[in-house]
Amino acid sequence: MEKGNLSINSENIFPIIKKWLYSDTDIFLRELVSNACDAIAKLKKLGTMGQFKIDENDKLKVVVRLDEKAKTIQVIDNGIGMTADEIKKFITEIAFSGATDFITKYQDQFENGSDIIGHFGLGFYSAFMVADKVQIDSKSYIADAESAKWVCDGGIEYEMDTSDRLDRGTTITLYVSDDNKEFLNGWKLKEILAKYCAFMPVEIYFEDASKKDDEQEDKPVNDTNPLWLKKPSECTDEEYKEFYHKVFTDFNDPLFWIHLNMDYPFRLKGILYFPKLKHELESIEGQVKLYNNQVFIADNLKEVIPEFLLLLKGTIDCPDLPLNVSRSFLQNDGYVTKMSKYITKKVADKLNSMFKKSRDEYEKYWEDISPFIKYGAMREHDFYEKIKDSLLFKTTEGNYVTLKEYTDKNKDKAENKVFYVSDIQQQAQYIKMFKDQGMDAVVLDTRLDVPYVSFLEAYSGGVRFERIDSAVSEMLKSDNEAEIDAESLENLFKEALKKDDLKLKVENLKSDEVSAMIELSEQSRRMQEMSAMYGMDNRTFPSDETLVLNANNNVVKLLLDMKDERKDEAEMICRQVYDLAVMSHKPLSQEEMTEFISRSNKIMELLAEK
Ligand code: ADP
Repeated sequence: MEKGNLSINSENIFPIIKKWLYSDTDIFLRELVSNACDAIAKLKKLGTMGQFKIDENDKLKVVVRLDEKAKTIQVIDNGIGMTADEIKKFITEIAFSGATDFITKYQDQFENGSDIIGHFGLGFYSAFMVADKVQIDSKSYIADAESAKWVCDGGIEYEMDTSDRLDRGTTITLYVSDDNKEFLNGWKLKEILAKYCAFMPVEIYFEDASKKDDEQEDKPVNDTNPLWLKKPSECTDEEYKEFYHKVFTDFNDPLFWIHLNMDYPFRLKGILYFPKLKHELESIEGQVKLYNNQVFIADNLKEVIPEFLLLLKGTIDCPDLPLNVSRSFLQNDGYVTKMSKYITKKVADKLNSMFKKSRDEYEKYWEDISPFIKYGAMREHDFYEKIKDSLLFKTTEGNYVTLKEYTDKNKDKAENKVFYVSDIQQQAQYIKMFKDQGMDAVVLDTRLDVPYVSFLEAYSGGVRFERIDSAVSEMLKSDNEAEIDAESLENLFKEALKKDDLKLKVENLKSDEVSAMIELSEQSRRMQEMSAMYGMDNRTFPSDETLVLNANNNVVKLLLDMKDERKDEAEMICRQVYDLAVMSHKPLSQEEMTEFISRSNKIMELLAEK
């Protein structure tokens, strides 16, 4: 037996490894299983180079074996193996100093919370996150190599001896520490394997020592040839859907997908899916899984994947990604920037080609994909520039138009202006009047639309957006002058409403159905909404509303005849007219609503008494 010191001058790194970011302790298994896969890959390589003959009956595989009684987890491979000298070199020298360097370099960040991408770089020594003692038993592929054993109990000393392992390959045995007992559980281990190892390139089997040989699971826990590695031309729609269901446990079919496949100047493969939103108001939450050579790194890593793409679902495999670096480094890395650009371009290309080649289908998907596109346009200017001609707007008629189509169609009536509706029920009266005149408005009724409208105004060449109730006089007025005593009418309303700052206007509107409408300029409304959003007092921006009385409407006309003899009733009607106008514009307050209902009952009572 031989004893040795891991490193004489180095301080003991094990306490640091042990108190590693608790949340990600489970990466120890990824590190060991991926080392095992690497060992098998190296053996295969020797096979293809003719330096080693792999027996056809020799199935190359990794086994993760749990022994609850012995409190051990083993990772067993039949790969290239190591001689005693190689263990000394690779494990006690290179890997150890690598781990030490890594820890010294990032110690500050560990103490201040996680900043390391999946903690890559620590490798083999991450075993000490969960184990008191780690043992390696290995036999090299080299003919006549003697088996070697290495044991280390988490101090700076290790012991080496010959091992009783008979076959080629390596067994890593973890003697799990008491405070990590949770890992001595089959479900837990399988869950970790499913998370990190689901697509590793060598078959991985899970074994439970408490079960007999014929009771062990005979299927590998992983898919060694994930769909993203295949050529897009060789994948069927069914395969894409099946892969989606399995990886994202979403029973719905995705709408469509983009297969990324790039070899030069960097390697990147993956599939991005556009999920179907279950209901309109659902907040979209995607999941983009990042892999490095089929080894899972992390979900939704916004340093690598453009943030707006995180609303999608997908898998992205970048073998060239420098992972043993901190997140802030990645953010500024030229490679990552190029990769983001490439993905963004691919997504824009797909959407543009759908818009051009199959507009019907694109329109069908619009409701589902528009939150993603709007958000993407605002977040990533590059994306907006590429996609801007394929942006659609749903009209109140239920059609889909581009900005250009809308403005071209309506240019005689309102140059470069887009009228929109933010609530189709509330603004129904305005919509109807617009429609009667052959005008269309677009529906922009989600929360995202508020910043989206401002964004489009800033970037889409001078187009203005105005809510449908901001242009009553401009759009809904008839050409004839009102033949009515406007002054008396205004006075009557002023007295009845007692609202000093309310402006009044009498107009001949194109329809005789409505008695009055509220007009509020787009700018004033936006100011009001903004102040409400920031919880400011209403008086910060005095209301700029105008009550437009329709001189064409019978009730309005009759009011003037009533105003002398039946003043009370006339005033009651004025208030009712005002409330009705407000209701098409914004919700009534609680008091206003109570009063409106009681007044409506009163009016019915008067009618009934007649
Ligand atoms: P890395 O894998 O990043 O090189 P590790 O600390 O995980 O760093 O491993 C150090 C080295 O030990 C590996 O490069 C490899 O040469 C050797 N090694 C680790 N595990 C195995 C294994 N199961 N079979 C053969 N060699 C191994």
